[in-house]
Amino acid sequence: MTITLGYAEPLDEDFHTEPFPSKIGGKPQWLDPRHPLPVDRVRCDECSKAMSLLMQLYAPEDTPETAFHRMLYVFMCRNGACHRGSANRCMRVFRKQMAEENPVYQEERDGEEDVVWVLNEQVQGSPACVVCGLAGTKACSKCHVRRYCSREHQLADWEMGHRAQCSKGLVEPTAAHQKKLQRMVYPELVIVSEEEDEQATAMEQSDDEGSDDEEIKAGDMALVPVTNEKAEDSQVEVDKAFLVFQRRIQSNPDQVLRYARAADSAEEREPLFVSDEGRPVIDDNVPDCERCGAKREFEMQIMPQMLNYLSIDSTDPTSIDWGTLLVYTCANSCDLDSDDDAEYAREVVCRQNFSSQGIGEKFVRAMHGDDSGITRQIESLTI
Ligand SMILES: [Zn+2]
Ligand SMILES: [Zn+2]
Ligand SMILES: [Zn+2]
Ligand SMILES: [Zn+2]
Repeated sequence: MTITLGYAEPLDEDFHTEPFPSKIGGKPQWLDPRHPLPVDRVRCDECSKAMSLLMQLYAPEDTPETAFHRMLYVFMCRNGACHRGSANRCMRVFRKQMAEENPVYQEERDGEEDVVWVLNEQVQGSPACVVCGLAGTKACSKCHVRRYCSREHQLADWEMGHRAQCSKGLVEPTAAHQKKLQRMVYPELVIVSEEEDEQATAMEQSDDEGSDDEEIKAGDMALVPVTNEKAEDSQVEVDKAFLVFQRRIQSNPDQVLRYARAADSAEEREPLFVSDEGRPVIDDNVPDCERCGAKREFEMQIMPQMLNYLSIDSTDPTSIDWGTLLVYTCANSCDLDSDDDAEYAREVVCRQNFSSQGIGEKFVRAMHGDDSGITRQIESLTI
């Protein structure tokens, strides 16, 4: 097994009936619908607002048995200004898991072989916020129907259209209201996965082996826009890690996610760094699991390409940006509290930026062909 790559694709019709979806954006679909996360665990440490779901990934494990169903949730503050400091202040990763025998899902046979999981009919989901999908602990004081995680989202819903509706006794939002609600979360897309082909791995290795650093530098400089006088003047510096990164993703430029935990070799289970600078220091940035004391290990990384799917205005200088987001989780996928089904394990996320100012955004735009200069240069140099 190599690295598994994730790609963003539009939702198909049945998507919302899937029990364990892996997706970008939308509202969280809770592994245990009886226990959505409360907003107080998902507030930004900078601005105190509720974060939005960036993505969720179904990532079950064979051991321990309690990780038979396992879901990772990544939340992020929507305010770009909050993203200057540590990623753990403006982003949050949670792990939720349950054993094969559990009160929420039951196994059904679909034909001879296939097992499908269906939500147990007796399970009553807890109300979720109509705006963000976090635990809906508050209700509209007039209609008592619409539920919210916080006063902030209650006010937002009121302004977006519930004010007019509630007084008419209508609780189903109008199309216009619905549209506004959709803008309060990131656009929803399914994450489909595919193993990384060997060509991509080989490409990086062939360049990595048998040539010393000097050679790599000389050859690689061709990939930066040296023909562009402006770029030459501004001395865009590209370090070796960035070039290895760029080569590795070249054959699969649309990847939004790299899942490394199931890879065979220890080397493959390492992150693909975007720069020689700013690599997380495990002892400083990635503490051992607070629950069981085990080391946290690298599980997956979110690629800069995901930014393209979030409807972020990248011309805004304060907009959210990253080189890559590295997610570290308890190596044991240790048990959550067996007496408390509402328990979630908080895990760790680290952000690595591209080394030179602006490379990230330019690079991403170039990959998607909507930047004039640099795209042409990269194309002409890599074909
Ligand atoms: Zn914030
Ligand atoms: Zn909410
Ligand atoms: Zn109401
Ligand atoms: Zn643990």
